[in-house]
Amino acid sequence: MVARVIPVEAFDLVIFGGTGDLARRKILPGLFRRFQAGQMPPEARIIGAARAEHSDDEFRALVADAVAEFMPKAAQDKEALAAFLQRLSYVAIDAKGTQGWSQLKETMRSDVVQAYYFSVAPALFGDIALRLTDNGIAGPDARIVVEKPFGRDLASARALNETLAKHFTESQIYRIDHYLGKETVQNLMAVRFANILFEPLWKSEYIDHVQITVAETVGVNGRGAYYDKSGTMRDMVQNHLMQLLCLIAMEPPYHFDPDAVRDEKLKVIRALDPVQPQDIVRGQYLGGGGEGSYLEDSENPHSRTESYIALKVAISNWRWKGTPFYLRTGKRLRARASEIAVTFREPPHSIFDDAEGWRENVLVIRLQPDEGMHLMVMIKEPGPGGMRLTQVPLDMSFATALGPEAAEVPDAYERLIMDVIRGNQTLFMRGDEVEAAWAWTDPIIEGWEARGDRPQPYDAGTSGPEDALMLMHRDGRRWREIK
Ligand code: NAD
Repeated sequence: MVARVIPVEAFDLVIFGGTGDLARRKILPGLFRRFQAGQMPPEARIIGAARAEHSDDEFRALVADAVAEFMPKAAQDKEALAAFLQRLSYVAIDAKGTQGWSQLKETMRSDVVQAYYFSVAPALFGDIALRLTDNGIAGPDARIVVEKPFGRDLASARALNETLAKHFTESQIYRIDHYLGKETVQNLMAVRFANILFEPLWKSEYIDHVQITVAETVGVNGRGAYYDKSGTMRDMVQNHLMQLLCLIAMEPPYHFDPDAVRDEKLKVIRALDPVQPQDIVRGQYLGGGGEGSYLEDSENPHSRTESYIALKVAISNWRWKGTPFYLRTGKRLRARASEIAVTFREPPHSIFDDAEGWRENVLVIRLQPDEGMHLMVMIKEPGPGGMRLTQVPLDMSFATALGPEAAEVPDAYERLIMDVIRGNQTLFMRGDEVEAAWAWTDPIIEGWEARGDRPQPYDAGTSGPEDALMLMHRDGRRWREIK
């Protein structure tokens, strides 16, 4: 089955920070892939805007290099790449000054969708928003896209929301959490709400616990100084893991509509209990095998910032009372693997003698590397050995079910940028959602800061600190292996 591609409307997309790392690695190569897929109408244009002086051709060369580096396979289509580059132009602009704004105004068309991607440091969001509106550049339906981090606590997130709200309405603001753009994450909603099969079981009566794991093999890699001020709780849990938790735990929205979906996610965040100190494990990776430790990478020998965190989280509502959600995420772990595992309870009574062979049903939703889902079910072990039980995966691999082309799913950024052009906010975070997430996160961080907790060291290439294993063991449960 070949994926259907529906072209979007004509647009002018301005990428502030168009020469930066995120633009080069994700945004521009992603746009090229959408162009290649035939999703961009002939009138679509992309305008890079950043501080350095570049001609249009220099910017095009920079983009060609970025596509070759980050999407080498796509870049082999030289004809398509040349045609794509013709859509690009460049404006040298100073977010904090006057340079470039009148040129940008002349460049923008008023009769097409206008989108402004703020791929710059959050400290510049206010300056850019102000200049876009004060100079009469952004039209009344213009959309702005802002990147994480959206604040570092509730107060700063609120201040950022207030700043943006002076210039744009909530329906114009697209706060990116690229986890929501992942194919499997959206499939989670399809599986839950387009099938009758799971929803009746989707509650504490039938679900024992949920595990959410986002494991990385890389360290802080040259971002040590930034990371040390952030830490894993702010960098990963407050946004990505929280969003995944919301999609698993939320009530069915009345319609697949941006505000209906986001209302339900918000209710989940508001129902989260405060997390107790004994339900938090923080870790810091050690060095070895030629790689530095967290303390070396962050260049702060006294740092107490975590590069790993595991949490036991409770949701106080009718559906989830009694079903813990265990979250863990960290750097320099055994494998790069992100998954959600929903573990069901035991059947109320077993008619089989083979109690030892029995294992719980688990629905595993794998976000990376190989996106897909599988459901662990019990069957009879083949052969003449009597009624012995064994567990096998019912595999919902996209490649097998839909053909190899369907497995070539668009990158999260590609999908999200096209959603901005379509004006669909479903997969973007609303301001109140971000604030509620910080309101839950802040006391957790304040708690360990006030207690002076130190993160536990862990060996690189493992599954994290020993205490994280205990977090599960003491409840008679086990983490799934990271592989
Ligand atoms: P970067 O430092 O590589 O690029 C910053 C860009 O902003 C450059 O193009 C620079 O020219 C431009 N810029 C800086 N000051 C400016 C000014 N006064 N006026 C106009 N342009 C100016 O940063 P990045 O890594 O691309 O990150 C951009 C944003 O995206 C940040 O908010 C970052 O936190 C976020 N982000 C980045 C990544 C990533 O993988 N790089 C991932 C998630 C979020």
